[in-house]
Amino acid sequence: MAQVEVVRGDITSQVVDAIVNAANTSLLGGGGVDGAIHRAAGPELVMACRQLNGCATGDAKITSGFRLPAKHVIHAVGPVWRGGRHGESDLLASCYKRSLELATDHGLTSIAFPNISTGIYGYPKAEAARVAIRTVQSFLQAQTSVGQVIFVCFDSDNYELYTDLLTQGLG
Ligand code: ADP
Repeated sequence: MAQVEVVRGDITSQVVDAIVNAANTSLLGGGGVDGAIHRAAGPELVMACRQLNGCATGDAKITSGFRLPAKHVIHAVGPVWRGGRHGESDLLASCYKRSLELATDHGLTSIAFPNISTGIYGYPKAEAARVAIRTVQSFLQAQTSVGQVIFVCFDSDNYELYTDLLTQGLG
């Protein structure tokens, strides 16, 4: 079984095969973690993203990492929280699953996730953490090249939630 870890910090400094971006459907950059990743990767990243013709909510697309220490960026589009009855949990789970599928298709071994949708998109953090951990743990039961998954938490709320859930072995 792959290693699942939690760290507190900035995802742009992670030295892994892929970092995941919490992107929007245009893939042309935004605020939050998306802005930080584009700033750190350099202008080549938005040029590569322009070739991708956007991305549906719940799906993900891959580019090079350009000037980042990470080799690749997987751009996943999380749902905007609209009360929880608009398929948000399935769409959020799909972001994690599609990112891991892309990593597997490319033979990648290590991947770092931010807490998708829990910033500007307003997804409640505790519920999002459960969806993320459950989906990753379930994916890792299958055949995959991925041997290390890192949840990179930027804020202390998320860091505590992930640490508690993983210590209990839960998602
Ligand atoms: P979304 O629109 O999907 O909610 P945000 O970027 O607003 O995306 O927030 C997603 C999560 O990323 C939030 O938990 C936020 O605290 C976190 N975040 C912001 N900047 C960074 C960063 N540099 N590294 C890792 N996580 C970050």
